[in-house]
Amino acid sequence: MEALPAYKAGARPGGRLMHKLSSNELPYPPLPGVLAAVGEAAADLNRYPRMLADELADGIGLHHGVEAEQVVVAAGAVAVLGHALTAFVGEGDEVVYGWRSFEAYPILVGAAGAVATPVALAAGGRLDLPAMADAITERTRAVLVCSPNNPTGPAIHRGEFAEFMAQVPDDVLVVADEAYVDFVTDPQAVRADEILADHGNLISVRTFSKAYGLAGLRVGYALGRPRLIQAIRSVTTPFSVSALAEAAAVYSLQMGEALAQRVAGVVETRDFLVAGLTAEGWNIPDPQGNFVWLQLGVDAVPFSDACQRAGLLVRPFPGEGVRVSVGERLAAERLLEVAATWA
Ligand SMILES: *Cc1c(COP(=O)(O)O)cnc(C)c1O
Repeated sequence: MEALPAYKAGARPGGRLMHKLSSNELPYPPLPGVLAAVGEAAADLNRYPRMLADELADGIGLHHGVEAEQVVVAAGAVAVLGHALTAFVGEGDEVVYGWRSFEAYPILVGAAGAVATPVALAAGGRLDLPAMADAITERTRAVLVCSPNNPTGPAIHRGEFAEFMAQVPDDVLVVADEAYVDFVTDPQAVRADEILADHGNLISVRTFSKAYGLAGLRVGYALGRPRLIQAIRSVTTPFSVSALAEAAAVYSLQMGEALAQRVAGVVETRDFLVAGLTAEGWNIPDPQGNFVWLQLGVDAVPFSDACQRAGLLVRPFPGEGVRVSVGERLAAERLLEVAATWA
């Protein structure tokens, strides 16, 4: 028996259920109506879906109060980001982003044949927008601004963003990656969809994977001026958003109240974590998404191992820190137990 792989032990250490806090997913199952909508759409699986999820684009337009021609939908925000780079960035061009930030950025920039210009974060895990503006050269075609920043947590403020936009040349695309915007409670935080009319070079990228809890279905979108959106549409893979995904997303857009309740639950647990960690002596960056960042340096991997022994699957960034998604209350309590022995 000892030769058997430790599959069960890995999944249920100490006989306890493992909490998956490593991918910033929503800890709740899909809303019952979502499953029904997906089931209904499944009856037509022999048919192609709409080419660019037009019904969903209409719904998103209504949701944000913009025309459908200001919306492009694709199979996840990562795909939207990739299409935006394909549309606006050529071989050898430069793309600026803060670092550490979303781990897909260097991959997408490389896949576009472009050169990455990562700019170190400022204190408190915040994007250093002045330094990012300074890093723009004649070769720069795009800047990726992740707010709230994954994995560190803080959101960009309206004032600093306005100063930044004033410094960015009009022909450089600014991509506000707002995957976690629904969890933001900081009243000063910028919401790019509110200022799209002021900027001809700004898009807001959103996803159904986080607050909407549909990570498994793959739907994301971008909002912006028709000229920008048209360019992204022209390189977006047709039929890539399945009819199941479109049906689930259309339905979810109408579930504002239920979703708001779930988001409020996440924020409540996040507040509980912040209070607990602070009381233990931790100094954590302001978490505005559904995750917290523990700056552990060389202790990142040992801390992650300790979490795993306690039944928590977290996300270590070796030598830097550990990102922990906000999940069930029980998982948060357990994280505080582990963190207390470390502080
Ligand atoms: C999770 C995440 C996304 C969402 O990606 P999908 O492809 O829609 O699942 C986008 N940007 C950031 C920063 C993220 O953390």
